[in-house]
Amino acid sequence: MRPSKQRSWAEPYKIKMVEPVKMTSRKDREKFINDAGYNTFLLRSDDVYIDLLTDSGTSAMSDQQWAGMMLGDEAYAGSRNYYNLEDAVRKYYGYRYLVPTHQGRAAEHLISQIMIREGDMIPGNMYFTTTRLHQELAGGQFVDVIIDEAHDPESEHPFKGNVDLQKLEDLIKKAGADRIPYVSIATSVNMAGGQPISLENLRALRELTQKHNIPIIHDMTRVAENAYFIKMKEKGYDDMPVVAIVREICDLTDGATMSAKKDALVNIGGFLAVNDKEIFEEARNLVVVYEGLHTYGGLAGRDMEAMARGISESVQDDHIRARVGQVQYLGDKLIEWKVPVVRPIGSHGVFLDARKILPHMSQDQFSAQALAAELYLDSGVRSMERGVVSAGRNPESGEHNYPSLEMVRLTIPRRVYTQAHMDVVAESVAEVYENRKRIRGLKMVYEPKYLRFFQARFEPL
Ligand SMILES: *Cc1c(COP(=O)(O)O)cnc(C)c1O
Repeated sequence: MRPSKQRSWAEPYKIKMVEPVKMTSRKDREKFINDAGYNTFLLRSDDVYIDLLTDSGTSAMSDQQWAGMMLGDEAYAGSRNYYNLEDAVRKYYGYRYLVPTHQGRAAEHLISQIMIREGDMIPGNMYFTTTRLHQELAGGQFVDVIIDEAHDPESEHPFKGNVDLQKLEDLIKKAGADRIPYVSIATSVNMAGGQPISLENLRALRELTQKHNIPIIHDMTRVAENAYFIKMKEKGYDDMPVVAIVREICDLTDGATMSAKKDALVNIGGFLAVNDKEIFEEARNLVVVYEGLHTYGGLAGRDMEAMARGISESVQDDHIRARVGQVQYLGDKLIEWKVPVVRPIGSHGVFLDARKILPHMSQDQFSAQALAAELYLDSGVRSMERGVVSAGRNPESGEHNYPSLEMVRLTIPRRVYTQAHMDVVAESVAEVYENRKRIRGLKMVYEPKYLRFFQARFEPL
């Protein structure tokens, strides 16, 4: 019998076009993963069945977005689509000035070069790979000020993206406010497992930083997902539409970098947005060196149009409920089947806890990397490592950074896969979990200098 009053989440769209996916045999996959050096980033997409490598640039665009692609104004300067994008950024996010970039890291590059001086400290709610690298390349040093619960995969804290204000105050005292160019705040913290920051915490942070005249730069890659969690979990927001919560978050910050390949539902694009005119003018000048003229920043006019439309779709309650609902569906299934995952389930993916799944393996044997390879071998499902390989090395000591979270990320693209796909993924994860004792560790045989997780190669021990 059906439980009374229960209604499943469902997608607020139907499917108009399909793209076939390829099934492979285990024997095929053994060859493919070996050729790829046991790094899922080095597999060919054609050899993947269900691709949960990333939610970046992998979303399905709507018919409205595709229609917008036909309205691309490909003028070198002053494209109408730039102005549409500027309107969308002002309307939904409230930032005054816009510099488009080809993706998020290009915006991080610009803001880091403009605001960071040699020896500066940049506190943030957990590192992100590209964000921290650009801070370091500009001469700065990232300092983690996220609450301790974020590093504990079992903590059920509803806002594991929160800043520990005491840690930040201590840093301000130690380093001096003038050595802190800004605080870097991510919404829906990726490396913590897609965990939100609360509005209460952000407001308190705003108060503290304003006392010391320190601006907040917002990594708004997944701001709508964070806003949805605020609506669901934070007291006083259940009646507020996501679009209004998004605006409240942005209004508490001074500028933002955006990878529009995530929340904003496009295959390529990003931007830097700021409220300060001088920073804007510097960024508008610098973007010409690295990306292109300030009215296209490395994008085609049609890409900017798709982004403008994607932004407005991304903040609709129906959309975001189904998006996060699908992620929760997969996570709940794995919890029900007792597979160790990071709790609570995040907004953009389910993170397997490799330390718990493979307790016989040390971080030096790259347990999460090995687990991701094993999952691919089992079913052709592609995931990625978020552990010691992603964390890289300490630039001073040259040692591995050993993060407390050693995870495999099953990242769900937006509007792409069905509930049955999620079932297949869960079944494969459960199978791998059952046979976990057979999984062997890896050794790294090739290590690139920057962001090694993308291109490193491994061999089984
Ligand atoms: C993806 C991502 C970035 C970088 O954006 P790209 O578009 O991949 O360059 C920055 N921050 C976070 C939180 C991200 O998830």
